This record gives sequence, structure tokens and C-alpha cells, in this order.
Amino acid sequence: MKKGLILGIGILIVLILGLIYKGAVVTDTADVIVIGAGASGMSAAIEADNLGKSVILLEKMPYVGGNTARATAGINIVGSPFQKLKGIEDSKDLFVSDVLVSGHSENNLIMVEKLADESASALDWLIDMGADLSDIGILAGHSVARTHRPSGGEPVGSEIVSILKKTIDGLDIDLRLETKAIEIITDTDGSVEGVKVIDRTGRSYTIHTENVIIATGGFGGSPEQYVYYNQKLKGYKTTNSPSATGDFIGLVAPLKVKLVDMSYIQTHPTVSYEYGMLITEALRGNGGILVNNKGKRFADELENRDLLSEDILMQPDQEVYLVFNEAIKKSLAATNDYINMAIVDASDTIEGLAESIRVDRQSLEQTIMDYNSYVNEGVDLDFDRKSLERKLEEGPYYAIQVLPGVHYCMGGILIDERARVIDESGQPIIGLYASGEATGGIHGLNRLGGNSLLDAVVFGRIAGRLGEE
Ligand SMILES: Cc1cc2nc3c(=O)[nH]c(=O)nc-3n(C[C@H](O)[C@H](O)[C@H](O)COP(=O)(O)OP(=O)(O)OC[C@H]3O[C@@H](n4cnc5c(N)ncnc54)[C@H](O)[C@@H]3O)c2cc1C
Repeated sequence: MKKGLILGIGILIVLILGLIYKGAVVTDTADVIVIGAGASGMSAAIEADNLGKSVILLEKMPYVGGNTARATAGINIVGSPFQKLKGIEDSKDLFVSDVLVSGHSENNLIMVEKLADESASALDWLIDMGADLSDIGILAGHSVARTHRPSGGEPVGSEIVSILKKTIDGLDIDLRLETKAIEIITDTDGSVEGVKVIDRTGRSYTIHTENVIIATGGFGGSPEQYVYYNQKLKGYKTTNSPSATGDFIGLVAPLKVKLVDMSYIQTHPTVSYEYGMLITEALRGNGGILVNNKGKRFADELENRDLLSEDILMQPDQEVYLVFNEAIKKSLAATNDYINMAIVDASDTIEGLAESIRVDRQSLEQTIMDYNSYVNEGVDLDFDRKSLERKLEEGPYYAIQVLPGVHYCMGGILIDERARVIDESGQPIIGLYASGEATGGIHGLNRLGGNSLLDAVVFGRIAGRLGEE
């Protein structure tokens, strides 16, 4: 009798454990669940914690960072103290105008204005956590230099990821790596009830919550998805992390969420196809020029990304080189990575460089001489390039072969300025927020460089504050 009882209890325990293991019972609860630990998700998690909420931060990869960790050029801030120190005059109106020109006025204006209004506070917030964003450069499509990065031109993404992660480590946020969100559960009236996840062991379970923030990033790491949404991109390489697989699309599909601008996918003009390595726009911003295989410039190197991508594809044999010299190299730490990856041709002289990239020597020398004279005069007589930062005066000289590559998804989940997810009938879904590259509408047809990190941080913070409740 006693033996039978013990056996019965044993079987019961095994059954309960089995049920928990298979995810048939709710095993966890949090006030807020954030899906994705890039800049946006980590910003959201920190702000939700600041509100006093219990937070579970889900990350499907074994590490945090997503596409954010790859960002090099910088984050845009309007009217920062660093701009003032350098005597750069900027304004909300000028920024908004640049964003609209770049986006071909297809941007959601309310969101763009919010971005401008919140940028200074985003900078203060990041600096308070320890970020160094004191260096400023100009990127394509900007009227003034406003793209902030660490001193010495160090990559901005790793700086932001590391300070956000450090902050999270010091808070009571439950970060679950290798834990992928596979379903958002809602009740009969459509309010959020929980998230179903699958962990590294293959165990699936449900976490109960009333608030979910989707910060899964875009779909630029998935050729299947970007070609599905934009057939023209067949054969293009991507600069994106393999984590950028558009998981938000499947997560919101049953919820009748409105997706916008899904075919608007930005190509970055300067990608080295050898490793799908993005060659930062800051390299052109700091003085680099583009030449074709005739040794000639063919465009304003700082025109908007969509236009420059088209110009590159029209060059003979689609063979284009980004040329810079030692002074420019020294201004940007990111160039060391390119050299270490052996994607750079180098020579002490222009003649040697021309030989190395098989471009006519006289033509390349003439192009560089003309360009240097434009920098002297402050006017680019060929292509009206506005920022003439540095002359290509002294060697060594460097060249990287480049082509446009898939870079950024302008489309995604429609949110309002409170980061609330909007459904197909135009109503916010109770308890559902989204931010960062998983969202769409703010950047219009073509994102202005440096705006994605700002978007991720600004709307991540707003989502984390639950749309300011
Ligand atoms: C090479 C490169 C350079 C760039 N340079 C700049 C720049 O200089 N300035 C700028 O403003 N922008 C830049 N961008 C764009 C910018 O980095 C990204 O758009 C931005 O960082 C996106 O942030 P995010 O938090 O929305 O997404 P991500 O940083 O991509 O983070 C999303 C996270 O969600 C996780 N995730 C996805 N699905 C799930 C799931 N189902 N469950 C759990 N976790 C999930 C992913 O693993 C990832 O960690 C660059 C992009 C690239 C690729």
C-alpha cells in the first residue's frame, strides 16, 4: 500500500514536470516582455525597469546586439553641445527637411518631428550611461554635420550596445539569451496576454504578461524575405546580421496588425562584396571619393543613398572604387577593420594605386588633382558636392571596390508616436508596442543615414515607458 502511494506520487511528479517541460502550463509572469535585445529592445527594457516594472528581455541569439552591433557611422542628434562646440548651426526644421528630402516626403511627419524633439534627450540618456559620442561627422543627405560617434571615429554600434548591456546587467532585468519569441497570445478582446517562446534546449513555454514590446529588428538579413518584398533585390548581398530575419512579420500576422512600406528596402551604396562588409558612409563624409574603372568621379559622393546606388550601377562594368588617403584613414578607426580584412588596395602613390586597381593612371591623377582644387576653392565644379572635408593630398592612398548592398528595411509594423501598435482598423492594440527597425513609416522611401539608431533609441524608450502610460 505504502509502496503504491510512493509510486503514484512519483508518477504524478514526473507528469507535472513533463507538462511544464512541454510548455503546456504557464511557467512565468512579467509586467513587460521585450522581444529582441538590439538598441531598441535594450532601451525599452531599461525604461520599463525604470518605471518599476518587472521585465523579461528575450533574445534569440546567444548574444545581444543584432544589427545595432554592426553600426559604424553614428547616431544623429539635433542641436547637441558637441555641435555647438564646433560652431555647427543646426535646427529641428533643417533636420526635418533633410529627412523628408531623403525619404521623398513619404515619411510620417509626426514621427519625424518626435524623432527631432527627442534626440537631445536620447543623447543625454546615452551619455549618462557612459557613452562616448563626442565625435561628429557628416553623412549623405545631411545639410550639416550631426552624426555622433565615439572619439577617434570608433564604431558607434558597439559603443551603444556595450553601454546598454552594462546598464541592463546592473538592473533587475531578466535577460534570456537563445530564447526566441514564437507567438504573441491575445485574449478574446484582442488584448495582450502573453508570449510563447522556445529556448535553447527546444523547450517551449508561455510567459504571461499584459505588455509586449516587439523590437526584433528588420528582415535585411534574409534574402528570401527581401526578395519577396522587392524583386529588384535578387542577387544583392546584404550588410545585415543573420539575426535580422523579420520575425515580427510572423509574430503579428494573426493579430491583424498593419504593416507599411514593406517594399521600401534601402541599399547602401558602398558595400564590399567580398564579405558583404559595409564600408561606412563616414569614409566618404570624411573625404573619400568614388571613381569608376576609367578613373573618373561620376557623382556627388554624399548624395542620398538611393540615388548614389543607382549611379554606381550605371558605371561601366559596375566597377567602382572608394578612394581615400592616410589622413582620412586616420580620422576613422573603422578603416582598420577593412585593412585587416584585406579588402583594401594600398600604395604610397596614386600611380601605384592606379596600377593596383587597374585604372588609367593619368586619369586617376587628374581626377584627384581636380578634386583637391575643388576642396581648395570650396566648390565642386563637377558634381556640386557640398561637404569638401579633406584633400587627398598625401599618401599612402587606398581603394576599396564597392557595390550597393541591401542595408535597411524602411517598412514594418505601423506604430503611433506613443509606440503603440496599430491594427488594420487604425486602432492601437492594447498592451502591444513596437520600436526600431521592426517598425515602418518614419523613414519614407529612403532612410537618412544615422537616423536608425536614433529611431531605435527614441521609440524604444517610449515603448519601454509603455507609451508614457
Ligand atoms: C552594417 C550596418 C551598419 C549600420 N550603421 C548604422 C549607423 O551608423 N547609424 C544608424 O543610425 N544606423 C545604422 N545601421 C542600421 C541600424 O544599426 C539598425 O537599423 C538598428 O540598430 C536596428 O536596431 P533594432 O534594435 O531595431 O534591431 P537590431 O539591432 O537588429 O536588434 C534586434 C534583435 O532582436 C532579436 N530577435 C529577432 N527576432 C527575435 C525573436 N523572435 N525572439 C527574440 N529575439 C529576436 C535579434 O536577434 C536582434 O538581437 C546599420 C546597419 C548595418 C547592418
